[in-house]
Amino acid sequence: MNKVAFITMDVESYYDTTCLKKKNIPSDDKYDCAEEIKKFLDFLNERNIKATFFVTVDFLPRCKVFLLEAIKSGHEIALHCLHHVKVKKLSSEEFDASVKEAKQIIKDELGIDMVGNRFPEFVSKKKHQSVIEEDGFKYDSVRFAPSKKEYTKLNDLVYQNGKFYDFVLARTPLFKLNISGGGFVRLIPWKIIGPKIKRHIKKKDSYILYIHPFEIHKGDLPNYNVNFLKKLYLKRGRDIYLNKIDQIINWMNEEKYQFLTMSEYIEKYGREN
Ligand SMILES: [Zn+2]
Repeated sequence: MNKVAFITMDVESYYDTTCLKKKNIPSDDKYDCAEEIKKFLDFLNERNIKATFFVTVDFLPRCKVFLLEAIKSGHEIALHCLHHVKVKKLSSEEFDASVKEAKQIIKDELGIDMVGNRFPEFVSKKKHQSVIEEDGFKYDSVRFAPSKKEYTKLNDLVYQNGKFYDFVLARTPLFKLNISGGGFVRLIPWKIIGPKIKRHIKKKDSYILYIHPFEIHKGDLPNYNVNFLKKLYLKRGRDIYLNKIDQIINWMNEEKYQFLTMSEYIEKYGREN
């Protein structure tokens, strides 16, 4: 059995984090965590791992140089919206215009065509998913497995429907706890979440990890007086998160996982090529 791992980063500013975005705080370059993209890139390159970077396009001026470096070293660039907003509020026409604009900017600035998408917070409606397909994307990175029966399961986390693919997050069998990221891997005590991830890696044939630049920032970041729980979300576990990720990667190496970008996987294992 081919075991496959997808390491991903949602390339967005610290100020795109939901609890801060709501407050409309003006972005401060000192704290937007663009440098952490480079830090993660070095971490991956040291381990010869190819990853997928989902980019919020309005953050591009702050991270273009790192993304060009990522492309050079074989990583994939995919879309994480033009602006980091919940697309639910956008009409099909508005969303379509934003996707086309985002694609054009990435083409002009980075010289590549994006084929992958992940919605901010994985939230969208059917009409937005249709736009993604109509605009020539090959895959979406989604929260849950598609319920539609026209989808074929390619492995534990990848589903195919004709020329389109869904990559879904890893969850525990019990309670369906998200063990792919979203703060859970960073926030829940390692003694509890670590063994669950290890078991998944051993028993299943695929794993997806997603992180945000601010989550690997060491040291203080301003919390702008958010409430206690949000403060905890913004701060807890950042200092040691890369160590945890390193441990997860070691477990996957022991189980002979191959690390692929999502489009590499489709080229290798998709059935509609
Ligand atoms: Zn995001």
